[in-house]
Amino acid sequence: MMEITFESFCSLVQSEEDCIELLFKAKWPDGFRCPVCSHPQSFVISTRRLPLYQCTRCHTQTSLISDTIFRSSRTPLKLWFQAIFLHTRWRGINARQLSETIHVTYKTAWLMCHKIRYAMSRTDGEILLDGIVRVTDALLYRRMIPPSNYHEIEQPVIAGSTEDENGEFTHVKIRISPRSLRETRHSSPDMSEFVQQCVAPEAIPDTIVTKRHGKMRNPELIYFCRHAEMWMAFTFRGVWLKHLQVYLDHYCYIETRRKKSLYNELLRDCVRQRGIDYPTLIGTKEKRSSRPVRRKNDHSARQAG
Ligand SMILES: [Zn+2]
Repeated sequence: MMEITFESFCSLVQSEEDCIELLFKAKWPDGFRCPVCSHPQSFVISTRRLPLYQCTRCHTQTSLISDTIFRSSRTPLKLWFQAIFLHTRWRGINARQLSETIHVTYKTAWLMCHKIRYAMSRTDGEILLDGIVRVTDALLYRRMIPPSNYHEIEQPVIAGSTEDENGEFTHVKIRISPRSLRETRHSSPDMSEFVQQCVAPEAIPDTIVTKRHGKMRNPELIYFCRHAEMWMAFTFRGVWLKHLQVYLDHYCYIETRRKKSLYNELLRDCVRQRGIDYPTLIGTKEKRSSRPVRRKNDHSARQAG
């Protein structure tokens, strides 16, 4: 599928009126529905920056941005739409690039990126692997030398995929292993928690590969993890461990929707998912020991599996 250019996309969302119309269609594809009583009729109050829709039955007032990632944001809708579009491109975009491209402050761009990313992550969390499922373990940031010793920076993950009849991935999940590398280095990884949380009960259990060594491992899935690691290094120049899971979800979301209308899917999910707020993001409850996973000019670390 040919990607349209950013300039072409901007010409489609030039005014806030354009964006209001597109947002309405994304929020209510079958026409207005009251969030309280599901009544299909409303009248519009247009005295604010964005219209309010008042239900003609129960009089509940609803904004287009309530219960979406745009909630509480003063950033113009067209900049949000541009940011969502830029997140669907193959290389992705980091906060500094977004700040320079759509001309907002770095802090605003950083928050937008995270809100879009969390919409992807939460959507990914709602989907279980089903049908033909493979599960395998892999290592991010693997150190090749010396191979016999673990390194603190190496990150064990468990990856699972759903495949179609042609063996192509239709969905992939990569989860940070609940056990540390020290715990898993010389034993088979415990995948029961991953299977319990990420695999549908009716999935075919014979194809869940649990062996660490040998030809039963799934090289395509390990290769997928390696690409995720290279993508994070290339686009973000390293990510914080406390956000690593969300970046992995971001990669899986984008990569397994390449053949779909990715922009429309992401816009719909940004409208459907509630945003994450700034205090939660900066993690006042986060431990101070969270460490950055930085991979600048470190080619030896770009191996997974
Ligand atoms: Zn109502």
